[in-house]
Amino acid sequence: SQAQAQGGEYRPEEEDEPQGEPRYTPRFYYLLEKRQRLPAWMARQEFLKLMQSNQVLVLVGEPGSGKTTQLPQILLDAGYHVQMGQVRAICCAQPSPLATLSASLRICEELEVQLGTFVGHVTRFEDRTSGDTLLRFLTDEALLRESLEDPLLERYSVIILDEVHQRTCETDLLMGILKMVMQRRPELKLLLLSSSMDVKKVQDYFEGGAPLLQVPNRTYSVEVFHCQDSEKDYLKAAVRTVAQIHTTEPEGDILVFLPLEEEIDLACQLLRKESVHMMNFGELQVRALYIGLPILETQRAFEQTAQLKMGGKPCRKVVVASNVAETSLAVDGIIYVIDAGLVKQRAYNPRTRMEVNLVMPVSKTSALQRTSLAGRARPGKCFRLYPEQANGDWHEKVHPEIMRSNLTTVVLMLKRLGFDDVVHFDFVDPPSPEALMRALESLNHLGCIDDNGNITEVGNQACRLPLDPQIAKMLIEAPRHRCSNEALSIAAMLCSLPVWLRPNDAFRAANEAKARFAHMDGDHLTLLNVFHAYKQQIQDGHDPSRFCAENFISIRAMRHAEVARDHLKRIMESIGLQMISTDFQDKEYYPNIRRCLVSGFFMQIACLESEKRGAYSMLREGQEVLLHPSTSLGHKPEWIVFHELALSSKLFIKTGTQIKPEWLLDVAPRGYFDPQKISEKSSARSKLERLSARRQDG
Ligand code: ADP
Ligand code: MG
Repeated sequence: SQAQAQGGEYRPEEEDEPQGEPRYTPRFYYLLEKRQRLPAWMARQEFLKLMQSNQVLVLVGEPGSGKTTQLPQILLDAGYHVQMGQVRAICCAQPSPLATLSASLRICEELEVQLGTFVGHVTRFEDRTSGDTLLRFLTDEALLRESLEDPLLERYSVIILDEVHQRTCETDLLMGILKMVMQRRPELKLLLLSSSMDVKKVQDYFEGGAPLLQVPNRTYSVEVFHCQDSEKDYLKAAVRTVAQIHTTEPEGDILVFLPLEEEIDLACQLLRKESVHMMNFGELQVRALYIGLPILETQRAFEQTAQLKMGGKPCRKVVVASNVAETSLAVDGIIYVIDAGLVKQRAYNPRTRMEVNLVMPVSKTSALQRTSLAGRARPGKCFRLYPEQANGDWHEKVHPEIMRSNLTTVVLMLKRLGFDDVVHFDFVDPPSPEALMRALESLNHLGCIDDNGNITEVGNQACRLPLDPQIAKMLIEAPRHRCSNEALSIAAMLCSLPVWLRPNDAFRAANEAKARFAHMDGDHLTLLNVFHAYKQQIQDGHDPSRFCAENFISIRAMRHAEVARDHLKRIMESIGLQMISTDFQDKEYYPNIRRCLVSGFFMQIACLESEKRGAYSMLREGQEVLLHPSTSLGHKPEWIVFHELALSSKLFIKTGTQIKPEWLLDVAPRGYFDPQKISEKSSARSKLERLSARRQDG
């Protein structure tokens, strides 16, 4: 149509509209004008020319330049969804569910269309698309899962990988897979987006080197200040700095970077309290922004201060954010950045098979990126809450996630895709052979691959479940232990957000509430109790949000678990897993569930070493661990199956449940718990020796 030829907007329902009626609200034109001033839009002629003549293109532009929201629309307007006479979709893969939702909602708003019509999104447990959806926003994980079902990704004409500079595990794996898919599908286009210039490695990875297009930057200068000394309590320092800016600096919004979600919530609380005393200097509007917040709440971080102003009084917005605001969700109008210089990162030790989240200093790229966010509207200021000398501690480069992650899921996916020799897979940056071997070993123990390294029936089933292979195995085994419904609820709770709220001013009350649900055999069963109580409220026609508020339970976590559970249940049924339960009155009700936990998590068992110190040892690795104070285990059972470890001053077991050692021999693969395989340091060795001797006698 005429509109399309001019690069206008794509309106699939155009023909149905009555002639002559206004089709858009004034807001549409207001946003359109804003969009057309974005650097990515202004570069569109050159962008389309390069897309035309290359199969892979890398495009770099600073955060907020319109890459995520504008480029997919520009491709659609240029007709990229029609390929070889067929209508296909354009995929835009994001590294987080929050970025995925935010982008698809924003485009729906810009185009005034309903979500799920021709713009939609897919995340781990949610699919808001239809057969007509042409712009599909996916988490990179969801795109990987699609590739397991459709290895050539034939549904798509163009695949966009966003934020490739973040080098998440999934992005790296997708680049490897797409590199091969492109050989088989020469018509498929790949567009890689980055907010950082640090993309040479990615360019060089592709045949002949992928060309680079940089959209012009429009940053102003940013003055940088450092603290004199290292601030131990960076949270307080951040709050203090906000107050100082608000009372002494001219108008302009503030963005604060803190590493942990809890800290962000706490800082917001403190700032809201503080703001009351600073009303003379104008209102302070406080917003949080991190992955895990409900999408509507995060969108409030984008509200413009001009519109927040009431009666012309001065008003300042302060957004307290995690790393996600660094590039994925760039907030406009920021003049002041306060940076704690820290980030939460995954770290994996293949020797102990331990994956933990650590708070670490940011990379140089991140530090500079955060600083530059202060200069997008006019010259700004950046306050670093660490001394200048600490800049020497910056890592030069982003350390790709694949080199510091547990690779069990990655390897299982590669096996499913038919890459037998995973060690020689063409990775952008290869992970350590040790980490790969560990993953192969774990998959073999789980029965997902056989001794020859071939994927098994269990492995194929596990691939269908969007879960870590250990949880997947637990669900696959659940019918055998007669607890499908219960295992499913526990799995959904484990995948959800943190369930327990810990408000600072109601710590005791929160603990008491938690105790009401505590199951003394362990945290998994406590989670199950909470889920059942929540469902009961709904069944009885009560408002579950009241129940949650009264019991300091996160309603978000509960809703999330509900959605996840429904989704997983459908998959379980579709892969032929029966929904069997034991009667609640039966004395085997809980033991069945606990046995089922072991069938998935037998690689995460700890044995009590010292009752007095409450010290446990991890079975095969021998590492010492303690019970986390938050656990609902009323005593110190001898054997525990656990879901995760947390590292603070010591290593702690979080989410643990009491088990019986006999089950280890029944449920784990033959030989896994051979006493000689248990660490000599662990008293579990002699205990298991006695146990298996008794068995042989019996
Ligand atoms: P990039 O991907 O290059 O970082 P985006 O396409 O995400 O940039 O954003 C471009 C512009 O669109 C931003 O500067 C901002 O003004 C606006 N924008 C994006 N997402 C939202 C949102 N959820 N709410 C309000 N404005 C948004
Ligand atoms: Mg973006």
